[in-house]
Amino acid sequence: MKIEINKSKKDSKKKTGGQKKPVASKKTGAKSELSSYKKKIDPKTDNKPVSELRQDPVTGDWVVIATKRAKRPEDFTKDKKEVESIDPKDCPFCEQGGISKQKPDTLIYYRQDDQWSLRVFPNLYPAFTRSKKVNHQEDGMYFSMDGVGYHEVIVTRDHDRGVPFLLKEEIAEVLDSFKTRYIELMNRKSVNYIMFIENHGKESGASLVHPHWQMFAIPVVSPGVKLELEGSQLYKRNRGACVFCQMIEREQKEKKRIIAQNDSFIAFAPFASRAAFEVWIMPKKHQPYFERIREEEEFEAAEILKTVIEKYYWNLKDVSYNMYLHTSPCDGRDYHYFHWHIELIPKTAVWAGFELGTGIEISTIEPERAAKHLRKNMDREL
Ligand SMILES: [Zn+2]
Ligand SMILES: [Zn+2]
Ligand SMILES: [Zn+2]
Repeated sequence: MKIEINKSKKDSKKKTGGQKKPVASKKTGAKSELSSYKKKIDPKTDNKPVSELRQDPVTGDWVVIATKRAKRPEDFTKDKKEVESIDPKDCPFCEQGGISKQKPDTLIYYRQDDQWSLRVFPNLYPAFTRSKKVNHQEDGMYFSMDGVGYHEVIVTRDHDRGVPFLLKEEIAEVLDSFKTRYIELMNRKSVNYIMFIENHGKESGASLVHPHWQMFAIPVVSPGVKLELEGSQLYKRNRGACVFCQMIEREQKEKKRIIAQNDSFIAFAPFASRAAFEVWIMPKKHQPYFERIREEEEFEAAEILKTVIEKYYWNLKDVSYNMYLHTSPCDGRDYHYFHWHIELIPKTAVWAGFELGTGIEISTIEPERAAKHLRKNMDREL
């Protein structure tokens, strides 16, 4: 099933060299076509929400309680599921496996040979679902609301080609799909925050080896993002500058925590890393809103993201990691003081009592040494 896409956009896109040329995408200009496509393939359902958002009355933080897929108490004591290194024919994201059983695509990119290169579709097991109505419940001191939103999966074609083996252009396509879905959903009434994540490796919580990312478009701003927003607003108020821009300036002067950089992006181990080998990737130019990334910047961001994940792969023996994108909320407010960025946290340790009790993480290597190790020539003798 091929979507009709904006021809002129399609022709103007020069994303790849060689044969793996993704014939891109529905960009902003193609929005109306995408919407009509969506209407056709994605009938609005008014299913009962699969989850509930509950607010902590002490901190104001939100948690998600899965109601539809509620586990039985005894399920929690079963052996932990490992990442299944399944054969492509059993893989739910593979052509020869179960991708045809997935929900209809909300976005698809094609290569020059008319084969798909990247697909975006609703998660079969969503943490949030769309609904026409959002129910709020106020029960004395407790406040909760339906877990309304969008939970989608972004999948690249090849089962065995993770980020270190993707072309820069293919990673740029992943970022382009983030941007396209972001722009499509950012003005929906129930959507105030959109988060993109990647879980890689079994320690990260990934349950499938096939390269994939996830998008959560949700009605609330997460506690972690709120802290960053408040912190950067306060810094701006007190010192008249963006804390992230100043961090970049300082890192460029010192150099010892930098892992990679190009004209538009920089990757470094943050001064106060919470985890060993934590890396932040930021646009060098101040930009609060990820969705305003330009096409040529997508390539530069992809180059840096690929480099960092390659380093994780070769220098840290394919360590499990969580990656997520922090950008300003899409709730209509002004976040000029924020600066979008990507964070990567390798899963080298588990949170124990001290970390859970204090919220202070113990990182077991100095960020300066971690950066030096990551900068090292790639060790191909894995
Ligand atoms: Zn697969
Ligand atoms: Zn900035
Ligand atoms: Zn952040």
